Amino acid sequence: MKEKKICPYHEYCGACTKQGLSYAKQLEWKQNKINRLFQKIHEVKTIIGTDDPYHYRNKAQISFGYDDRHHIIAGNYVESTHIIVPIEECQLVDPKANAIFQTILKLAKKYHLSVFDERKLSGFLRHVLIRNSHDDTEIMVVFVTGTDRFPHKKEIITELTDRHPAIVSIIQNINRRHTSMILGNHSFTLYGKDHITDEFCGYRFKLSCSSFYQINHAQTEKLYEHALKMAKIRKTDTVLDTYCGIGTIGIIASKEAGKVIGVELNKQAVKDAISNAKDNKVNNIYFYQEDAGTFMDKYQDEVDVLIMDPPRSGSDFRFLSAVNRLSPERIVYISCEPETQVRDLKYLLKKNYKITDVQPFDLFPFTDHIENVCVLKREKR
Ligand code: SAH
Repeated sequence: MKEKKICPYHEYCGACTKQGLSYAKQLEWKQNKINRLFQKIHEVKTIIGTDDPYHYRNKAQISFGYDDRHHIIAGNYVESTHIIVPIEECQLVDPKANAIFQTILKLAKKYHLSVFDERKLSGFLRHVLIRNSHDDTEIMVVFVTGTDRFPHKKEIITELTDRHPAIVSIIQNINRRHTSMILGNHSFTLYGKDHITDEFCGYRFKLSCSSFYQINHAQTEKLYEHALKMAKIRKTDTVLDTYCGIGTIGIIASKEAGKVIGVELNKQAVKDAISNAKDNKVNNIYFYQEDAGTFMDKYQDEVDVLIMDPPRSGSDFRFLSAVNRLSPERIVYISCEPETQVRDLKYLLKKNYKITDVQPFDLFPFTDHIENVCVLKREKR
């Protein structure tokens, strides 16, 4: 792997905190961090790095603003501010997405689109979000706008799709609130489908503009294969896939399991999960849209394997005390925030569980983030 030159924007754009470190040094930093966190808890295996730390993101966004001369610019916000650093090429983003962003900037200039003003809550173009399948055969473009009316809509869609034929879906999302969230609540399809499809671990998954999907395809395949191998699922097992998103882990696990139950809070993700199970002809999986803690609190049946993949904030007391009551034989805890994972593990270690394996993965080169898989086994009933 050839290391690229340091990114010219890195001093202003807060996204890559590890720019300037060789990839080997980045992995060393992550290993030391996770070793420290697990120091008194369990030995940690060597972090699994990637063959190519560049252009791994299958989701990217860019924000719009004006420069001093009132010319439209597109880029990332300087960390903790609303100042935009214009960016022509991001080293983490898919090259096709980088090219589409540049075309959109040109079209925005050509058609004199106005930019959303966060103070006055007026104006049109706010952000553009791009999602691509891992082989770039399907690309979704989401225009996040402050108004419903889309000036020169027809011309822009035609020019964009002529130039980039892999675009199979163009969505307009309305976000006129004062917020740092990218997407608003209303989306409609301007062109093509309302989703893209990506192949992942041998299954095909539909992705809408708002549902969660891991951003590093190659590394996540390695991670889920590891997690499911460690779960040692048998044909008689009931598996709970909690915080299941669009159903990826549960659908992949279904071929080994008796039955899989998926729980997820986001309505659209659950809709996608149900449709993904159907499209992949998986008949032994059931999805529920609910807070995972509330669901677990009410749950009364047998669970053999619990998979948990919570957001950064980790799990909560209701969830963890229900785990203690349901007492699954094996738990696979996947985390994108090892600090909160350690906090939750400490609770389970005081109960009936012991850790058997801790395996970190690098899903996010050039950033501080670490993804970590921890396997627990019930000691006694
Ligand atoms: N396992 C999935 C998603 C993991 S990300 C995958 O690998 O793709 C975490 C998921 O937890 C997100 O889909 C998010 O919508 C969901 N989530 C966040 N808070 C939740 C809660 N309180 N209860 C259930 N799901 C929640």
